[in-house]
Amino acid sequence: MGQIQELDIQLANKIAAGEVVERPASVVKELVENAIDAGADTITVKVREAGLQSIAVSDNGSGIQEEDIPLAFGRHATSKIHTNHDLFHIRTLGFRGEALASITSVSRVTLKTCADNTVGHMVKVENSEIIEESLTRAKKGTEIIVEDLFYNTPARLKYVKSLHTELGKITDIMNRFAMSHSHIRFTLQSEDKTVLQTSGNGKLNEVMAQVYGLTIARDLVAISGETGDYKVTGRVARPEHTRANRHYMSLFINGRYIKNFMLTKAIIAGYHTLLPIGRYPVVAIDITMDPGLVDVNVHPTKQEVRLSKEPELMTLITNLIKEALLGESLIPEMTVPK
Ligand code: ADP
Ligand code: MG
Repeated sequence: MGQIQELDIQLANKIAAGEVVERPASVVKELVENAIDAGADTITVKVREAGLQSIAVSDNGSGIQEEDIPLAFGRHATSKIHTNHDLFHIRTLGFRGEALASITSVSRVTLKTCADNTVGHMVKVENSEIIEESLTRAKKGTEIIVEDLFYNTPARLKYVKSLHTELGKITDIMNRFAMSHSHIRFTLQSEDKTVLQTSGNGKLNEVMAQVYGLTIARDLVAISGETGDYKVTGRVARPEHTRANRHYMSLFINGRYIKNFMLTKAIIAGYHTLLPIGRYPVVAIDITMDPGLVDVNVHPTKQEVRLSKEPELMTLITNLIKEALLGESLIPEMTVPK
């Protein structure tokens, strides 16, 4: 008798959840990504106990069609890619078809969705199985409520930090969504108190004022430029507003918040000698590029990417920041010594 068995679905989903659902903020991230991919222009997130008691995300996006509802919770089930070619030309934030399956394996989930303004559907899912379904409100869009996160994975629950820290991580993720999608109206509420509210009017300066305060928003310099492969736009704060860590530098590639050491270096190089040692700037930079030039399938959380022609992009970013600060007369022009 062989020893190898295929894992049952619930166990397989829990293993995936170990990577995708690290903490409450990961659930918020995955659900908001889905709302953005569904074309919503208004997205509301409400949390209780920093998401451990509940996370409710509602949107006015496309909704999910009735026949797709059970599939949405399936593992490796997605409407976003279909072919091998698609995997290397990702235009959406999601594509792995893993988030809902993972989340439903470590919490109790209620989905309310309506795809056509006529009839809405509600399902409750527990241990990856639909346990209840009924008809519900008929307004186009989706609401997903995640309750009792990690109730069945005590080890993960123990790993979760204080509510204060976890709410901070949620706020952080929402701030970055707001900066990368200034055309979407975002609301974040914690215990009924509003933590973030943006207008969705497309003005990055206004979003940055919400996130970092007016003093910084008044001292932002716009950058904008392109090469054949990359288009870069954004705002960089004048160097008097430095911070003690890299956390205030937000980089987005095709609308996705990413972390990239080399691009961070390129930003710092753009500030030249204006940054004191050990201090970092406040910036939000949007990079638009052919999705074929970036591989986002590096890690389950999709925050790491591999870029083709990275040096070209680094030079562009450094030069744009240099020029912008030069325009503000912050960098003295080089003079050739006699
Ligand atoms: P992925 O986003 O990688 O496709 P998910 O598990 O996050 O995988 O979602 C599975 C599918 O459920 C999505 O492909 C999408 O079709 C559907 N879906 C999830 N959330 C929403 C939403 N808020 N609005 C519309 N469709 C959604
Ligand atoms: Mg998704």
